Amino acid sequence: MSSGHRPYWDEPRETMAPAERALRIFARLKAQLDYVYHRTPFYKALYDRHGVHPDDIRNLEDFTAKIPVVTKSMLREAQERQPPFGDYLGIERDQVMRVQGTSGTTGAPTLFAIGREDWAHIAEAQAMQSWAAGLRPHDIVQIAFPLGLFVGGWGHLAAAERIGASVLPLGTGGSERQIEIMRRVGSSVLCATPSYALHLLDVATEMGVDAAAGPLRLGFFGGEPGAGIASVKRRIEDGWGLKAIDFGNVAELHPCSNMECEERTGMHVYQDVDYTEIVRLDQANEAVPMGERGAVVYTHLWRKSQPMMRYFPGDETRMIDEPCPCGRTYPRLPDGIIGRLDDLLIVRGAKFYPSTVEAALRDTPGIGTEFRIVLERVGALDEARIEAEHAPTLGGDGDGDGDGDGDGGERLAGLARTAEARLRAAVGIRLPVSLVAPGKLEVMEFKARRVIDRRPALGGEGAEP
Ligand SMILES: [Zn+2]
Repeated sequence: MSSGHRPYWDEPRETMAPAERALRIFARLKAQLDYVYHRTPFYKALYDRHGVHPDDIRNLEDFTAKIPVVTKSMLREAQERQPPFGDYLGIERDQVMRVQGTSGTTGAPTLFAIGREDWAHIAEAQAMQSWAAGLRPHDIVQIAFPLGLFVGGWGHLAAAERIGASVLPLGTGGSERQIEIMRRVGSSVLCATPSYALHLLDVATEMGVDAAAGPLRLGFFGGEPGAGIASVKRRIEDGWGLKAIDFGNVAELHPCSNMECEERTGMHVYQDVDYTEIVRLDQANEAVPMGERGAVVYTHLWRKSQPMMRYFPGDETRMIDEPCPCGRTYPRLPDGIIGRLDDLLIVRGAKFYPSTVEAALRDTPGIGTEFRIVLERVGALDEARIEAEHAPTLGGDGDGDGDGDGDGGERLAGLARTAEARLRAAVGIRLPVSLVAPGKLEVMEFKARRVIDRRPALGGEGAEP
């Protein structure tokens, strides 16, 4: 187990001087630009249409300024044009090793074809990231992500196998069984969405299990913004007695695109795996200064099967390059992914993400696990209100503290006022809060759907998480 004391998976790579790394990144970018231009009709047509040729790109600044971005809808169209994998498949069909896809909650899933060599790169990259987060060969990794089209869980599986840890691939569902097997096997690591980790915590409590005293010591949480929100992370860490690692999942890119290290100072951006830029929200060919908020743009440096060049998922974040105590020289996203632009809510002039509402609620003691943001049209105006569960220890069935105050209604009204005040401070407007009993709101075992859009016509369904 001596290898367990090594702090780095690949020390020269992880601690390289940023200027040296930038040279290597640019060499890879050039090779990728040539590859996609000559191998795929999709990129040739896109660059010809924009009047740009790979030879025009002489430095990283050129790359940002001249190369157009790729969006999800462009990929969807390409797969309709040339089924099943689109005209951006750079390898032969018989070289495809895995087929994965988006969760496809709104329409047909976009498919990801991944070649053998690419999957080996994915495993190596995620092993490096997971090692930085503290995963070691003696760990038992319980995967509570769905093991289906969604690629996130498979990335954890590949990384754990590469590190030499034991894998317990349970998938989602059967929450009581998850907890029973966790205790029986002694799982030391949990991989799940943050919302499912919180739900499992409620289930453990109902089962009379002291989760904080259990075997888990580390958790990888992603697929939603949750684990990047301080108050959510605190709830998960305190409840389970573990160290919570936030990771980003942009399935078009990687099962895990970014990940925190053990220091948990924001997700590291592994620039020599996927070159990552932060650009203006309204102009993807203009970088924002380091530290400022903008939209993230990713580029595969190694992918051969379906390479993404300047992929624009529509996520808002900011990047910093201050040194991390871990010694890695990769920059970081100190706030995680702040939100997906498609999910941005605009109510009475205030703009906010569902994650901001979650942060405020998780920071309010007495608020339970599940909540909903209900959007409605009142006259000509969009309005939002919050439905939230209160904690089991509050409410009409007795608070159990035996102090005889008895008045659950009074306490709930006070809790709602506290939550409203926190929300007003966070989003800038009043969002009325109504409290419901624990267990009243439906639980999703994968990605939570917490925005209920009841606005007529144009409002449509809630945005895909
Ligand atoms: Zn670090």
